Amino acid sequence: MPDAVPQAAAEPANKRFRTVEVRRVERVTPKAVRITLGGDALEGFGTPLLGGHLKVMLPGTDQVRAYTPRRFDAARREIEIDVILHGDSLGSRWAIAAQPGDPIDLRGPGGRGHTVDPSAAWHLLAGDACAVPAIGMVLEALPASTRAAVIIEVGDITEERPLPSLAQVQTWWVRAGEIPGEALETAVRSIDLPEGAGQVFLACESGIMRRIRQHLIEARGLAPTSMHTRGYWKAGTVNYPDHDYGQDD
Ligand SMILES: Cc1cc2nc3c(=O)[nH]c(=O)nc-3n(C[C@H](O)[C@H](O)[C@H](O)COP(=O)(O)OP(=O)(O)OC[C@H]3O[C@@H](n4cnc5c(N)ncnc54)[C@H](O)[C@@H]3O)c2cc1C
Repeated sequence: MPDAVPQAAAEPANKRFRTVEVRRVERVTPKAVRITLGGDALEGFGTPLLGGHLKVMLPGTDQVRAYTPRRFDAARREIEIDVILHGDSLGSRWAIAAQPGDPIDLRGPGGRGHTVDPSAAWHLLAGDACAVPAIGMVLEALPASTRAAVIIEVGDITEERPLPSLAQVQTWWVRAGEIPGEALETAVRSIDLPEGAGQVFLACESGIMRRIRQHLIEARGLAPTSMHTRGYWKAGTVNYPDHDYGQDD
């Protein structure tokens, strides 16, 4: 029997670009643009992991950017993302200009995702404005029996919004100062964490994420395995990679 002819490996579904369209565009806050993307190409997209991402090919460019698939409706074949406007960037420009009917190529879902441990004594969810969609996802996944402290750094009060959860949640919205992430770091350093083994979800600027992560490990004695930490962007870097888990300590 002849040897089988080697076949090119099939492209994994999450690496394939799928063409969908913008269905709706809504300003959730002055700086958060919710874009609902839909289409039959989302068949088999798979349930996004908590804090996972998808990649959007920005129209008219050769650039992709990572966003959180905040909600996936398999029946309607729709995905919701919240793009946070942070300046005159390609991603922000796309979100401002997006119109229903625009074709969009996207890839995903990707990323490792955060696994909620329902037996954890407490949860700390912390991040900056672009982590609000992921923190919202995690909050919605927490069981009613859990306690969570949420710390989010935003530019001003107009960026605060309700984040529903069954859990018992205390939320602190802190104001960004001149250095992004500094107020977030100060707030995490000063929070009283309850007794017992907790879990952390942290997503923000890469350098700040590392400092907070180091603080939680060295000063608070948290196990690295109890933390899901993500560098979502890096000051001064365009298109920062989507797989910075800060595990280089
Ligand atoms: C797993 C994952 C999930 C993410 N989910 C979301 C999400 O749901 N919504 C969302 O808006 N973003 C999200 N991000 C972050 C987003 O991918 C980055 O902010 C990305 O750089 C945005 O692209 P851009 O074209 O706007 O800016 P870029 O062209 O990449 O960068 C331009 C400039 O802006 C700075 N910059 C980039 N991002 C920010 C920021 N957030 N705040 C301040 N300055 C910034 C850069 O340092 C650079 O100087 C996620 C990232 C990851 C890895």
